[in-house]
Amino acid sequence: MSVFEFQSVALPKVAEIERLEIREFLQREIAEKRFEPHRCSWSSFDAGFSQRLGAAGFIGVTWPEQYGGRGASTLTRFAITEELLAAGAPCGAHWAADRQSGPQLLKYGSDEAKTKILPQLAAGTSFFGIGMSEPNSGSDLASVKTKAVKVDGGYAITGQKIWTSNAHRVDYLIVLARTGDRGESRHEGLTQFVVDMTSDGISPRAIHDLAGNHEFNEVFFDDCFVPDDMIVGEVGEGWNLVTGELAFERSGPDRFLSDYQLFRELVDQVGPTPDRCASIEIGAMVSRLASLRKMSASIAGMLDQGAQPAVQAAMVKELGTAFERSVPEIVRKLVPVEPSQIAHDDFAEAMADTVLRAPSFTLRGGTREILKSMIARGLGLR
Ligand SMILES: Cc1cc2nc3c(=O)[nH]c(=O)nc-3n(C[C@H](O)[C@H](O)[C@H](O)COP(=O)(O)OP(=O)(O)OC[C@H]3O[C@@H](n4cnc5c(N)ncnc54)[C@H](O)[C@@H]3O)c2cc1C
Repeated sequence: MSVFEFQSVALPKVAEIERLEIREFLQREIAEKRFEPHRCSWSSFDAGFSQRLGAAGFIGVTWPEQYGGRGASTLTRFAITEELLAAGAPCGAHWAADRQSGPQLLKYGSDEAKTKILPQLAAGTSFFGIGMSEPNSGSDLASVKTKAVKVDGGYAITGQKIWTSNAHRVDYLIVLARTGDRGESRHEGLTQFVVDMTSDGISPRAIHDLAGNHEFNEVFFDDCFVPDDMIVGEVGEGWNLVTGELAFERSGPDRFLSDYQLFRELVDQVGPTPDRCASIEIGAMVSRLASLRKMSASIAGMLDQGAQPAVQAAMVKELGTAFERSVPEIVRKLVPVEPSQIAHDDFAEAMADTVLRAPSFTLRGGTREILKSMIARGLGLR
């Protein structure tokens, strides 16, 4: 199949039924004031919300029943995800587990890891973070230096990660570490491990973002022991696993709905009789969103068939996050509002919040330059 072939996918009836069910759950949550719709839905950490969502059966829906899931399709998960994001639900606690770490464990984890960890993730009582990036190894992930050395019964990890979202409040990290030489391909000698955050020899240190929030961290490992049954896949096969994981990380609606709440507020601000300029801009935004949604659903369909659409996922992330970056700029043109974190004005606050977060949209999960270079390679241009 050509990398540009995004087959049109219609969501099955069962996905639309689940959409109504999660919508009802979310309406109840909002009516009972259990959460206020968040502007940064999937990075807002709320363990209580995730636990209620898990109890209602909406986390890990694609996983088999024996591991706490419901054996639903990726397209059903797609509909659930859209609703969560559109409602501004605080999904940050369970997001990484539901989106990528759980599926990764399901495919490559040991029986012990699957049996012990997956049900906790599906219940929304345990959470995951992703320990890939290091100082000087972000885009060039294959150059990671954190080392895992074989010891009796497992491996000892020593090194440092950076930008690790929620490391200070999750239960497990999937850590990419070097177990051998890079080899000629530069992609050899890497292995993924599930690290229990209560282990000895692991210490997160806060990094505050532009908006002053503490979401990501540096994480230091000093001879941190990881048992053999917490190796993900085969030793030395980490690169292939990471590449597969990124298809899950980059293709979902979270890559174009990060500032959906600001978009909704914009529509409210311009009201039912927008002028010509607002009509054109908002119409263009809606059509971009509709195209992104179709592409993302198409990838969900491919994932259901067991494919690894890494290049298509890179395209969704590149186009999706470019859209997200453009939202505050378009809002600025259409509504004369000064972004402010201290004004008693919801819209000014929404703008300030989004303007401060927007630069991260195109960095997290792989930068635009790296995605473009992957797409070019997929097209045979490099
Ligand atoms: C909000 C947020 C949350 C994050 N959460 C996590 C997390 O939980 N876990 C985790 O592991 N990481 C996380 N990251 C890290 C993220 O994956 C990296 O920031 C990203 O991959 C870029 O790596 P870097 O910061 O080292 O930048 P660099 O790789 O140093 O890149 C700097 C600039 O150089 C450009 N560049 C680099 N190499 C090339 C090249 N070959 N060709 C052209 N241009 C190039 C890049 O595009 C970028 O513009 C997070 C980042 C953010 C912003």
